[in-house]
Amino acid sequence: MASGKSGVGFTLFAGWLIDGTGRPPRRNLRLEIAGGIVREIHEFPRTQASPQTPHGVLDARDCTVIPTLVDSHVHLAFDGFASAGAALSPDAAEARMRQNAARLISHGVLSVRDAGDAQGLGLAFARKSAGSGPLRVLSAGQAFHRPGRYGAILGRALSPGVSPAAALEAEVQGRQAVKVVNSGLNSLVAFGRETAPQFSAEELAALVRSSALGGLAVMVHANGIEPVARAVLAGVRSIEHGFFMGRENLAALADAAVFWVPTLVPIHVCAERAPAGSREALVARRTLDHQLEQLSRARRLGVKVALGTDAGSPGVLHGDAVVEEMRLLMEAGFSVGEAVAAASAVGAELCGFQGGGLRPGAEASLLVLEGGPEEIPSSLRRIRRIFLAGEELSLRQ
Ligand SMILES: [Zn+2]
Repeated sequence: MASGKSGVGFTLFAGWLIDGTGRPPRRNLRLEIAGGIVREIHEFPRTQASPQTPHGVLDARDCTVIPTLVDSHVHLAFDGFASAGAALSPDAAEARMRQNAARLISHGVLSVRDAGDAQGLGLAFARKSAGSGPLRVLSAGQAFHRPGRYGAILGRALSPGVSPAAALEAEVQGRQAVKVVNSGLNSLVAFGRETAPQFSAEELAALVRSSALGGLAVMVHANGIEPVARAVLAGVRSIEHGFFMGRENLAALADAAVFWVPTLVPIHVCAERAPAGSREALVARRTLDHQLEQLSRARRLGVKVALGTDAGSPGVLHGDAVVEEMRLLMEAGFSVGEAVAAASAVGAELCGFQGGGLRPGAEASLLVLEGGPEEIPSSLRRIRRIFLAGEELSLRQ
């Protein structure tokens, strides 16, 4: 096999290729890779015997090749086990985030958007690790919320009278993205109970404008009709969660090309973990089913859906959750090609990452998965090889 060093070329024979654009898997393709870039993609004959020149050739004819993955909603400071929000020493936080990064990479996730924590640990990690490790991180740092409302574990409260735009002004340098919490959490007692928005449409619009001046995109935690409607009206980049947003909001997302990150795994975990037959289990299951219906509609409308897991939330493990989130997207009717797109090219577009698609001229960042496309997503637990910009990563962590 090729050394995999970027700059050194090699030929990859793929049994199947899913390119990240949303189109179906294609059979028997030969990728020419050089300088960290996919130079050419050609079909090769089904009858072709084993490649003639073993040097510089990777034979993956029994495998499916897909782009490296993007998880567009994680919390690097939390690990899914310890109680989120408990203050950590800098060393403990660093060790935990390194471990989370290793788990992500071993599942083929090479880019993440960090959706914040109260101490701004994810942003500190993103700044420190920039360029030094394989994981690419875009962090929202501390999210804004109103005092007494949900969001304390994700950021800081803005006193009444302090607008998010004014709060951002003081710290626009050093930020990579902006996050606002504009609703509460899903109720596990009353199905679909909507919480009041935390900010006005005008406040959100002013924040979007000042963020844009600093080159920053705004992501909004919002469940329910009114919290989502205000965010869409304000021109935000993405809606996070978006449970119970309703049909009009879904149509508005499609019209305005606002991204949606539906984070299915945490509510699935709630449904699985609550005592069988309990009210909590029932409400969580109905909430998940409702979200799957919304997703199915979003797919028909052409909403840009990016995969995000909320990894770090209770019971939601970094890396592993991507497999489950992809399975749930497919349960909502996404084809395997569409699910891979949500987990690669769409996420890369949302977050501004390189890679995310496999076409001539694109970065050669790809996963070699055992078996055919029908084994996705479970084959993400059996990744044979990972390449980042043409360079092979060791799978031994
Ligand atoms: Zn989150």
